[in-house]
Amino acid sequence: MNTLHVPQVSRPRDPHIDGQGWLTSAKRLPSPNFEARPDSAVPTLIVVHNISLPPDDFTTNAIADFFLNQLDHDAHPYFDHLRGMRVSAHFVIRRDGTIEQFVSCDERAWHAGVSSFFGRERCNDFSIGIELEGSDRVPFEDAQYAALAALVRIVVKRYPIDAVAGHSDIAPGRKTDPGPHFEWPRLRHDSALPPSFFPFQSAN
Ligand SMILES: [Zn+2]
Repeated sequence: MNTLHVPQVSRPRDPHIDGQGWLTSAKRLPSPNFEARPDSAVPTLIVVHNISLPPDDFTTNAIADFFLNQLDHDAHPYFDHLRGMRVSAHFVIRRDGTIEQFVSCDERAWHAGVSSFFGRERCNDFSIGIELEGSDRVPFEDAQYAALAALVRIVVKRYPIDAVAGHSDIAPGRKTDPGPHFEWPRLRHDSALPPSFFPFQSAN
């Protein structure tokens, strides 16, 4: 096959963030847990997390239920302490690489909590949160790295993102995710973003 003259431009049907901040290829599960970004803040930071509910169980739909305020808190002992919590992230990447979106990227999702990015607090104001279905105890799936790299590239195309951080980078001592199994060099390589986008990783 001669591909020499195929132009490397994106086509309208390629997955992209639409005019309302939704990824065209994502499974949409709109969560009520969001608010407007303050003072028309634009997202400049991507925050990578991990989550599983119950921890280390990747067979349930409990993350979505939790973000949609529909979790059955009696279904598992771990769910009891989540009662009344209002949480969301913009995206969840399931173990098979499926991307679910809960909040428009234009809005402020509730994923980072008390946090600081080089002295700038309230990271939810200016970030996009991406949760990988996983935990600090097991490696992530190849399909998740592929989906994450593609998603990061799509988000960077649409918003003036200049950094990617882990939740543990912006809430040290309080949060440990995405955890020791998350391969930052792999994301750096696969996203093809310059090293300056990863201020918490060493440059080599
Ligand atoms: Zn987190």
